[in-house]
Amino acid sequence: MEQKNNPMEKLVSLSKRRGFVFPSSEIYGGLGAIYDYGHYGTLLKNNIRDAWLKAMVQERDDVVSLDGAIFMSPKTWEASGHLASFDDPQVDCKKCRSRFRADHLLEDFGVNSDKAGLEFINAELNKLKDGGKLKCPNCGSKDLTEAKRFSLMVKSNLGSPTDELTEENVIYLRPETCGNIYLQYKNTLDSTSPKLPFGIAQVGKAFRNEIVARQFIFRTREFEQLEMQYFVFPQEVKNNYELWKQTRWDWYLSLGIKPENIRWYKHEKLAHYASEAYDIEYNFESLGGFKEVEGIHARGDWDLSQHSKFSGTDLSYFDEATKTRFVPHVVETSAGLGRLFLMVLDQAYTEEEVKEGESRTVLKFPPKLAPIKAAIFPLLKNKPELVAKAREVYNSLKSEFMCEFDDNGNIGKRYRRQDEIGTPFCLTIDFDSLEKDDVTVRDRDSMEQARIKISELKNYLRDRI
Ligand code: ATP
Repeated sequence: MEQKNNPMEKLVSLSKRRGFVFPSSEIYGGLGAIYDYGHYGTLLKNNIRDAWLKAMVQERDDVVSLDGAIFMSPKTWEASGHLASFDDPQVDCKKCRSRFRADHLLEDFGVNSDKAGLEFINAELNKLKDGGKLKCPNCGSKDLTEAKRFSLMVKSNLGSPTDELTEENVIYLRPETCGNIYLQYKNTLDSTSPKLPFGIAQVGKAFRNEIVARQFIFRTREFEQLEMQYFVFPQEVKNNYELWKQTRWDWYLSLGIKPENIRWYKHEKLAHYASEAYDIEYNFESLGGFKEVEGIHARGDWDLSQHSKFSGTDLSYFDEATKTRFVPHVVETSAGLGRLFLMVLDQAYTEEEVKEGESRTVLKFPPKLAPIKAAIFPLLKNKPELVAKAREVYNSLKSEFMCEFDDNGNIGKRYRRQDEIGTPFCLTIDFDSLEKDDVTVRDRDSMEQARIKISELKNYLRDRI
């Protein structure tokens, strides 16, 4: 019987044991909220990224790519408003010195402080304090500080003649990837000559000094974003927004995410320049509920206008058909790769009883996302003719499919290991294979086995992946 039972500890432990995700710098005691991806994690993450790039760039003729640098002119963040207001409200426990996000503390009491000022936040916190309700979630103490602003910008001194970080020499690690897209909007327009509406997509690292980051790879201080800015005629924002909402929703379904596991969250309080903002939320069993994985925002002409103003470069668009010049409006889609990874892992993680008293842990990834598509086993390790035949099959498949050759332990153990890394097909070469030129293919989910001719294997795998 299949059972979904994946509290976070199990995902964290499997991720480390099986080479998906490791705590960063672990031999030095680790570094808070930073993670490294191991062999299988890297493959899975790349497959999710590639599925996004395929849908957003390869299969469209109106979106082009960009791979921008992490370091950008500090003026970028002045223009975008990040330097003035990219911060979260922080509360400290005076007793145990734990730090919390005040908006998250309020959320636990049903108070929405999205985009609210410190005055509102502190007034709400004080109400809870007066009612004796507000306690440190860590130690239970009621001695908490007032909320204060904590900037999420990560600073560096790249290229600076001194170590000291002063206002003049500080440079920031980008807090989101879309900055490059706005700054390279004109070069993209001049070099690839797209016509409105068109988009620029990019995958890359972003950095945020998150106050609290205790949810494994859901919230990290270094993470990857998948962002696309779609530049549109001002009068066509609404229909483009609706199209992108639908397109992004459908992408999750195409990835194998169950429709009942995702939902829309509508932002009621919008930034002054925005006309619409929705998030796609996934129901993380490991985090106890629905949480944001992607934001889809109609951002008006704010970004291009601000960068025009601050840089002195004209970022307007001339429309040949109507002979008009204007600043395009933007519809943005922005997802976090680590969050998508956790979503895919969360949905795939399954513990099930295979026989009376025997259970297995299996990652039921959609085959196209699975890190390893096929594992190839010789039935016995000490029979050279089986090993040679298995190697031959492995060599014939590996240029097209990510495969693994495994002759460790007995077949049962090999199946369990491949189940735990989510390999959809295990191919065993036995004595019959030597005569009949076929293999046993074992399906990960049904555990059923079929004999398939070696000459047919590529087609068999292609059809199923
Ligand atoms: P949150 O409210 O969870 O802090 P956000 O609304 O600030 O997220 P955006 O700035 O809209 O997030 O970023 C777009 C996407 O980038 C998010 O939907 C999320 O998937 C991802 N993301 C943002 N911050 C982080 C982080 N610290 N760690 C991992 N992914 C992140």
